[in-house]
Amino acid sequence: MSNLSLAYIFKQQQLLVDEQFQLPRIESIASDLVVQSGDQVIARDLLDDEIIPDGLQLVPLRQLLQIWNVQQFEQASRAIQLLEWRRNHKFCSHCGHKTEVHRTEYAMVCPACGYHQYPRVNPCVITVITRGEDEILLAKNAKNTRGMYGLIAGFVEVGETLEEAVRRETEEEVGLQVKNIQYLASQPWPFPSNLMIAFKAEYASGELCLQPEEISDADFFKFDQLPEIPFKGSIAHAMIMHVIHGTPAADDTKAWL
Ligand SMILES: [Zn+2]
Repeated sequence: MSNLSLAYIFKQQQLLVDEQFQLPRIESIASDLVVQSGDQVIARDLLDDEIIPDGLQLVPLRQLLQIWNVQQFEQASRAIQLLEWRRNHKFCSHCGHKTEVHRTEYAMVCPACGYHQYPRVNPCVITVITRGEDEILLAKNAKNTRGMYGLIAGFVEVGETLEEAVRRETEEEVGLQVKNIQYLASQPWPFPSNLMIAFKAEYASGELCLQPEEISDADFFKFDQLPEIPFKGSIAHAMIMHVIHGTPAADDTKAWL
């Protein structure tokens, strides 16, 4: 049975796993997306009318993030993003012809005009801002109905450096200026296809002034009086722990999980 492949089978943002939250092994078919060719890891979408086999269950990827190790989650996030990209690039965006899957690269190729469409990652900056020795800025997202406070984050715009994006997002969302912007770490974030790029910065000047469409509340909190913060496994959690406890935020040691 050595021709069985480990399979990421998605239904939107949910993944098929067994009772121990491990991936099933299945017979691979031609239309599968190959995630890793050596020991055969594949990805596919669960069809709408397909029956879930006994012993398997659909679990949201966000929940698996809290159970799996970093490598497992990163491969899963690669699989879901590649599937989504393939689904959304069935036609050439240049001439409209039907595309074909490239044999060796992750590319959708147009046989009519030769245009190659590659998977796209959306860079997103996330910043942990401190004031003095023992205060951290936390903000409640306007869309978040729970009581959780997170960090300032937003997409990088065309033509902008990462540092400019950090300054602009902070100014827009909470009306503050920051200084000493330093890179910390990054994390692929497949909701839907982002690369979170983490920075720390210090408060420089300004009064808190919230952008109501984005932020419903924000304040500087003492390190020992934090509200509810993002869950362990998210880069925001690692960043907050980094500034408070000095634990590594970079994933090269994988110590942040
Ligand atoms: Zn074309």
